[in-house]
Amino acid sequence: MAPWQWIILEGERFIMADLKNLVFIHSTGSTDYRDKSQIERLRKKLDLAHVVTLHQVHSANIILAEEWKKGEKREGDGLITATSGLGVGVLTADCLPLLLFTSQVIALLHVGWRGLKEGIVSRAIEYIKSLDNSYTEINTMFGPRIRECCYQVGQDMINELAETLPTEVVEKGIKRRRGGRLFFSLGDAVTSLLKSVGVKGKIYDLYLCTCCSGYFPSYRRKGEAASRFVSLAWKKQG
Ligand SMILES: [Zn+2]
Repeated sequence: MAPWQWIILEGERFIMADLKNLVFIHSTGSTDYRDKSQIERLRKKLDLAHVVTLHQVHSANIILAEEWKKGEKREGDGLITATSGLGVGVLTADCLPLLLFTSQVIALLHVGWRGLKEGIVSRAIEYIKSLDNSYTEINTMFGPRIRECCYQVGQDMINELAETLPTEVVEKGIKRRRGGRLFFSLGDAVTSLLKSVGVKGKIYDLYLCTCCSGYFPSYRRKGEAASRFVSLAWKKQG
């Protein structure tokens, strides 16, 4: 089942998943959301009380959004919240915006290979369990990221991942092509990782590649000139 739909907010196109208890949207196009005033503009458009973003550093740090104070700059790559109407956002241009959620808690992560290596996904699972002890399943939504069609990697990256991740997780991620070229699927690696830590729940995937779909900024395609799109999630009221 695909919950995604295109929406237009004041001329800007977004892809939105509107579920029973939460909304997860992604900007597209040329707006660069590294500019904080763009986040503020979007917050007003969406009528959210707050939107929390972090200074992202490819770490496994996850921050409770409720602890965020206005004007504060915190380093981290994951935000978790149990509060309705409190928006959490990550900025990406090829890395994976990953939403994990129960009926009570949502966690939004910025997952690149470094964050994956540092253990951000398993840490988020533990954090969710500590905040919601009545959970029965933990569901997953994969946002737009560079997919295995375009994500050519080197053996050195694979070796680094293998230092901390289970072998089967790394193997699931690797896609071998002619000439010994290696490509990597963050989606397949994360799915395998969730399975390895016993997570049960629904998985929703947008299946859009930032590099070749043409809808999103892509570091691989544009290099330093790439802007960043925002992925934003919030729990609904009630
Ligand atoms: Zn692609």
